[in-house]
Amino acid sequence: MKNSKNELIADYVIVGAGSAGCVLAGRLSEDPNCSVILIEAGGSDKNLIVQMPSAFYLPMQSKTLNWGYVAEPEPNICLLYTSPSPRD
Ligand SMILES: Cc1cc2nc3c(=O)[nH]c(=O)nc-3n(C[C@H](O)[C@H](O)[C@H](O)COP(=O)(O)OP(=O)(O)OC[C@H]3O[C@@H](n4cnc5c(N)ncnc54)[C@H](O)[C@@H]3O)c2cc1C
Repeated sequence: MKNSKNELIADYVIVGAGSAGCVLAGRLSEDPNCSVILIEAGGSDKNLIVQMPSAFYLPMQSKTLNWGYVAEPEPNICLLYTSPSPRD
């Protein structure tokens, strides 16, 4: 829906079309009186490596399929091993 200034307006704005955001947007959209805007910063998931569960390790390492964040070192886990945290 747009207002008189041609700006998008909605009852809810959801940032991130990941697992939680899509479920939330889907549930809220079931109410015909409720308008929802869903914003996603990432690209498409139409990629064989993303769609194939057994390829888990590949998108974790990809510079184009994740945001490339790394978790903070945990003093009590694996001698300060810093694990990839691709989506946070
Ligand atoms: C490679 C991989 C494989 C996995 N496989 C499984 C599995 O088989 N089974 C399972 O149960 N779990 C799996 N997980 C874990 C599961 O994907 C996550 O637990 C789940 O996606 C978290 O949901 P979320 O909605 O919190 O975050 P996400 O699904 O990560 O969604 C967050 C979204 O927000 C977007 N975003 C971030 N910042 C912004 C911004 N500023 N503006 C707009 N959009 C933004 C991101 O691009 C992302 O799309 C896997 C995770 C990875 C990385």
